[in-house]
Amino acid sequence: RIVYLNGDYMPEEEAKVSIFDRGFVMGDAVYEVTSVLDGKILEFEGHMARLERSLSELQMVCPLTREDWLAIHHELVTRNELVDGMIYLQVSRGNAGDRDFHFPPAGTPPTVVLYTQSKPGLADDPKAKVGIKVISIPDLRWHRRDIKTVQLLYPSMAKMAAEAAGKHDAWFVEDGFVTEGSSNNVYIVKGSKIITRQLSHDILHGITRASLLKYAAEAQMEIEERPFTIAEAQAADEAFFTSASAFVMPVVEVDGAAVGTGKPGPVATRLREIYLEESLKRTV
Ligand code: PLP
Repeated sequence: RIVYLNGDYMPEEEAKVSIFDRGFVMGDAVYEVTSVLDGKILEFEGHMARLERSLSELQMVCPLTREDWLAIHHELVTRNELVDGMIYLQVSRGNAGDRDFHFPPAGTPPTVVLYTQSKPGLADDPKAKVGIKVISIPDLRWHRRDIKTVQLLYPSMAKMAAEAAGKHDAWFVEDGFVTEGSSNNVYIVKGSKIITRQLSHDILHGITRASLLKYAAEAQMEIEERPFTIAEAQAADEAFFTSASAFVMPVVEVDGAAVGTGKPGPVATRLREIYLEESLKRTV
């Protein structure tokens, strides 16, 4: 695999980052994951806008222009002959020299890494046909979940807990309400309404979420942005999640209780179709 590191393309074995890099020592880095279908990039502008926002919230300068980022994405797709998969992008605050909690001086070069991951048949994930099962787990993350940092230890622990319980994923719960999934935004369907938590510092502002809500509104579907509980999800007609790599994924069980019929419902199924159809029109 050919990867990108700080301005150069190289085989992955040659890509080396300092042991003093703040991304490694402090988790001081932000990232984006963008899907590639049929060699084309989905939601590029959305991901770049969020990257710029994450960086600016952490007082980091965005090291490249959108044109530069796009050129790198395209170059990696070409060099790796990527058909379906994802592109991972990470910007860390760079090499601080000796360990220090304080940010290094302005002008310290960031560490910029991009690489591809091939996932043949990404849009035809068989799980979308049967749905996935989730457990709930307390949300013990920090309170700036709107910034997409690489501090993913707790989400990793949540996924391990779900796996240990024989399920696919975990939903975070705080003050009695679901915040989001371990790596996705979550929704329930009640009657004709799609219910999902409103944007705040409590959740990541999903790029898939933003587009899906736009397409759903255009399709005259009713959307209510508010928190919901696990009991409400268990009593809902349908549930689903969204993320850049899974698009729209039906959720058919929450903490052991079947949601609706226990099978992917018509709304989630339709939204997945609409999302893929519309976002494929906007690839770059
Ligand atoms: N929420 C969390 C915690 C995430 O990690 C992610 C994606 O990684 C999402 C939501 C979904 O965001 P997006 O649709 O931009 O992938």
